[in-house]
Amino acid sequence: MDEITDIESEHEEREEDEGSEMEIDSYGCGFWSESKIDGREENMIVAEEEMQWQVQTAIKIREMMEVFHKRCVLCWLRNVSAGHSVGYCRIMPGKCLRCQSRGHGVNDCEKAIYRGGNCCWKCGLPQRLGGNYIHGDMSIGACEEGWRDKMFPLCYYVWRTSGWKQRLSAHFRREWNEDEFKEWICRVDRGITNGVRVMLWAWNEIENN
Ligand SMILES: [Zn+2]
Ligand SMILES: [Zn+2]
Ligand SMILES: [Zn+2]
Repeated sequence: MDEITDIESEHEEREEDEGSEMEIDSYGCGFWSESKIDGREENMIVAEEEMQWQVQTAIKIREMMEVFHKRCVLCWLRNVSAGHSVGYCRIMPGKCLRCQSRGHGVNDCEKAIYRGGNCCWKCGLPQRLGGNYIHGDMSIGACEEGWRDKMFPLCYYVWRTSGWKQRLSAHFRREWNEDEFKEWICRVDRGITNGVRVMLWAWNEIENN
């Protein structure tokens, strides 16, 4: 049962802060290259770095989902506090619940196909990362209450909203057409989908700015 607990109060449109240059830091771009050490040692250092990155990322995902599992991500992106599910969001009537297209309903939305690794096929988030438990039960493919309807709605809202889309493109240094975006967010790389990278980026934009 979805209850409509709309605790939304003031509706502040978020000011689009254009032009803040993002460095492509975060979710794992660079390892160093300088090598005065032999290959084997270097591999161990890289593996260690990778493990640390995965553990840190697992912590961030849990922290983020602690908030998201009880909030409407679309309202969260607009700085509105609301506890309803995406289906009850006032910006949603007439749109597909998953991809926010006006051309079809969620039952006709093309199913997500994840490529490149494992993730929970119900929500697109990892169940484990870096040996750390994140959510659900991998052995039986179980997700967790309140985890669905977060990744896709958030990604598509960002992609379909021009101010956000510009910053998204600037951060990830690329552009997508709709099919490319659909494919890209479902691609698993180093344990997480690109959709989760978008969530973590948006989280960082809002919570730390
Ligand atoms: Zn909402
Ligand atoms: Zn759709
Ligand atoms: Zn899940």
